[in-house]
Amino acid sequence: MKLLTRLVNWGRSRSLWVLLINTGACNACDIEVIAALSPRYDVERFGVLLKGSPRHADVLLITGAVTRQVRDRLLRIYRQMPEPKYVVAVGTCAVSGGVYDRCYNVYKGVDEVLPVHAYVPGCPVKPEAVIEAISVLRRVIERGEFNGRGKGG
Ligand code: SF4
Repeated sequence: MKLLTRLVNWGRSRSLWVLLINTGACNACDIEVIAALSPRYDVERFGVLLKGSPRHADVLLITGAVTRQVRDRLLRIYRQMPEPKYVVAVGTCAVSGGVYDRCYNVYKGVDEVLPVHAYVPGCPVKPEAVIEAISVLRRVIERGEFNGRGKGG
Protein backbone atom coordinates (compact mmCIF):
# COMPACT_ATOMS: atom_id res chain seq x y z
CA MET A 1 0.00 0.00 0.00
CA LYS A 2 1.29 3.46 -0.89
CA LEU A 3 2.44 5.72 1.92
CA LEU A 4 -0.20 8.36 1.11
CA THR A 5 -3.01 5.76 1.12
CA ARG A 6 -1.76 4.41 4.43
CA LEU A 7 -1.72 7.91 5.87
CA VAL A 8 -5.28 8.62 4.65
CA ASN A 9 -6.53 5.31 6.07
CA TRP A 10 -4.79 6.00 9.36
CA GLY A 11 -6.46 9.42 9.56
CA ARG A 12 -9.88 7.99 8.68
CA SER A 13 -9.61 5.27 11.28
CA ARG A 14 -9.05 7.91 13.97
CA SER A 15 -11.97 10.14 13.05
CA LEU A 16 -15.12 8.07 12.84
CA TRP A 17 -18.34 10.05 12.98
CA VAL A 18 -21.34 7.83 13.66
CA LEU A 19 -25.05 8.01 12.98
CA LEU A 20 -27.42 5.87 15.04
CA ILE A 21 -30.51 4.51 13.26
CA ASN A 22 -33.26 2.56 14.99
CA THR A 23 -35.07 0.39 12.44
CA GLY A 24 -37.58 -0.89 14.97
CA ALA A 25 -35.57 -1.77 18.06
CA CYS A 26 -37.20 -2.05 21.47
CA ASN A 27 -34.88 0.83 22.57
CA ALA A 28 -32.74 -1.28 24.90
CA CYS A 29 -29.93 -1.49 22.33
CA ASP A 30 -30.21 2.28 21.67
CA ILE A 31 -29.83 3.06 25.35
CA GLU A 32 -26.68 0.92 25.49
CA VAL A 33 -25.24 2.55 22.35
CA ILE A 34 -25.94 6.01 23.76
CA ALA A 35 -24.25 4.90 27.00
CA ALA A 36 -21.22 3.77 24.96
CA LEU A 37 -21.08 7.20 23.29
CA SER A 38 -21.45 9.08 26.59
CA PRO A 39 -18.56 10.75 28.48
CA ARG A 40 -18.47 7.80 30.91
CA TYR A 41 -16.79 5.63 28.22
CA ASP A 42 -15.16 8.63 26.52
CA VAL A 43 -15.08 7.28 22.95
CA GLU A 44 -14.08 10.74 21.74
CA ARG A 45 -10.55 9.71 22.69
CA PHE A 46 -10.79 7.38 19.65
CA GLY A 47 -12.16 10.21 17.47
CA VAL A 48 -15.73 8.86 17.59
CA LEU A 49 -18.47 11.51 17.46
CA LEU A 50 -22.26 11.11 17.32
CA LYS A 51 -23.74 13.07 14.38
CA GLY A 52 -27.31 13.87 13.46
CA SER A 53 -27.05 13.79 9.68
CA PRO A 54 -26.07 10.99 7.29
CA ARG A 55 -24.18 13.56 5.20
CA HIS A 56 -21.72 14.02 8.08
CA ALA A 57 -21.42 10.38 9.10
CA ASP A 58 -18.83 7.71 8.25
CA VAL A 59 -20.40 4.88 10.24
CA LEU A 60 -24.04 3.80 10.36
CA LEU A 61 -24.91 2.06 13.64
CA ILE A 62 -28.14 0.12 13.07
CA THR A 63 -30.24 -1.22 15.93
CA GLY A 64 -33.40 -3.29 15.57
CA ALA A 65 -34.82 -5.69 13.05
CA VAL A 66 -34.93 -4.42 9.47
CA THR A 67 -38.52 -4.66 8.29
CA ARG A 68 -39.79 -4.42 4.72
CA GLN A 69 -41.41 -1.12 5.70
CA VAL A 70 -38.15 0.50 6.84
CA ARG A 71 -35.91 -0.95 4.08
CA ASP A 72 -36.29 1.92 1.59
CA ARG A 73 -35.73 4.59 4.25
CA LEU A 74 -32.62 2.78 5.45
CA LEU A 75 -31.28 2.60 1.87
CA ARG A 76 -32.00 6.32 1.36
CA ILE A 77 -30.06 7.21 4.52
CA TYR A 78 -27.19 4.93 3.50
CA ARG A 79 -26.96 6.51 0.02
CA GLN A 80 -26.80 10.00 1.58
CA MET A 81 -23.60 9.11 3.44
CA PRO A 82 -20.30 10.07 1.78
CA GLU A 83 -17.85 7.37 0.67
CA PRO A 84 -16.13 5.50 2.20
CA LYS A 85 -18.89 4.43 4.60
CA TYR A 86 -19.27 1.61 7.04
CA VAL A 87 -22.17 -0.23 8.63
CA VAL A 88 -22.30 -1.84 12.06
CA ALA A 89 -25.20 -4.16 12.95
CA VAL A 90 -25.88 -3.64 16.65
CA GLY A 91 -27.86 -6.23 18.61
CA THR A 92 -29.25 -9.62 17.76
CA CYS A 93 -32.22 -8.10 15.92
CA ALA A 94 -29.94 -6.24 13.52
CA VAL A 95 -27.49 -9.15 13.20
CA SER A 96 -30.02 -11.90 12.43
CA GLY A 97 -33.59 -10.73 12.96
CA GLY A 98 -33.38 -11.85 16.60
CA VAL A 99 -36.71 -12.42 18.28
CA TYR A 100 -38.44 -11.47 15.02
CA ASP A 101 -36.74 -14.26 13.08
CA ARG A 102 -39.11 -15.85 10.52
CA CYS A 103 -41.63 -13.02 10.70
CA TYR A 104 -42.98 -12.44 7.18
CA ASN A 105 -41.99 -8.75 7.20
CA VAL A 106 -38.50 -8.96 8.76
CA TYR A 107 -35.13 -9.48 7.02
CA LYS A 108 -32.70 -11.99 8.49
CA GLY A 109 -30.24 -9.27 9.44
CA VAL A 110 -29.03 -5.94 8.09
CA ASP A 111 -26.67 -7.72 5.68
CA GLU A 112 -29.68 -8.75 3.57
CA VAL A 113 -30.06 -5.06 2.73
CA LEU A 114 -26.66 -3.36 3.21
CA PRO A 115 -23.00 -4.46 3.35
CA VAL A 116 -22.04 -4.85 7.02
CA HIS A 117 -18.49 -4.28 8.30
CA ALA A 118 -18.93 -5.26 11.97
CA TYR A 119 -21.47 -7.19 14.01
CA VAL A 120 -22.27 -6.66 17.69
CA PRO A 121 -24.32 -9.58 19.09
CA GLY A 122 -26.30 -9.30 22.32
CA CYS A 123 -29.83 -8.64 23.51
CA PRO A 124 -29.26 -5.93 24.46
CA VAL A 125 -25.65 -5.25 23.53
CA LYS A 126 -23.14 -4.06 26.09
CA PRO A 127 -21.46 -0.67 25.70
CA GLU A 128 -18.09 -2.41 25.88
CA ALA A 129 -19.11 -4.60 22.90
CA VAL A 130 -20.04 -1.52 20.86
CA ILE A 131 -16.65 0.05 21.65
CA GLU A 132 -14.90 -3.21 20.71
CA ALA A 133 -16.76 -3.24 17.36
CA ILE A 134 -15.63 0.32 16.68
CA SER A 135 -12.05 -0.71 17.55
CA VAL A 136 -12.28 -3.63 15.09
CA LEU A 137 -13.63 -1.24 12.47
CA ARG A 138 -10.71 1.14 13.08
CA ARG A 139 -8.24 -1.69 12.48
CA VAL A 140 -10.08 -2.75 9.30
CA ILE A 141 -10.03 0.81 7.95
CA GLU A 142 -6.36 1.25 8.85
CA ARG A 143 -5.50 -1.90 6.89
CA GLY A 144 -7.57 -0.64 3.93
CA GLU A 145 -10.05 -3.53 3.96
CA PHE A 146 -13.28 -1.81 3.05
CA ASN A 147 -15.49 -4.64 1.81
CA GLY A 148 -18.44 -5.38 4.00
CA ARG A 149 -20.42 -8.61 4.14
CA GLY A 150 -23.81 -8.79 2.52
CA LYS A 151 -25.69 -6.98 -0.21
CA GLY A 152 -24.70 -3.58 -1.55
CA GLY A 153 -27.06 -0.65 -1.05
S1 SF4 B 1 -31.51 -7.17 20.23
FE1 SF4 B 1 -32.85 -7.32 22.05
S2 SF4 B 1 -32.53 -5.40 23.14
FE2 SF4 B 1 -31.77 -5.09 21.05
S3 SF4 B 1 -33.48 -4.24 19.90
FE3 SF4 B 1 -33.57 -6.48 19.64
S4 SF4 B 1 -34.96 -7.19 21.27
FE4 SF4 B 1 -34.32 -5.09 21.81
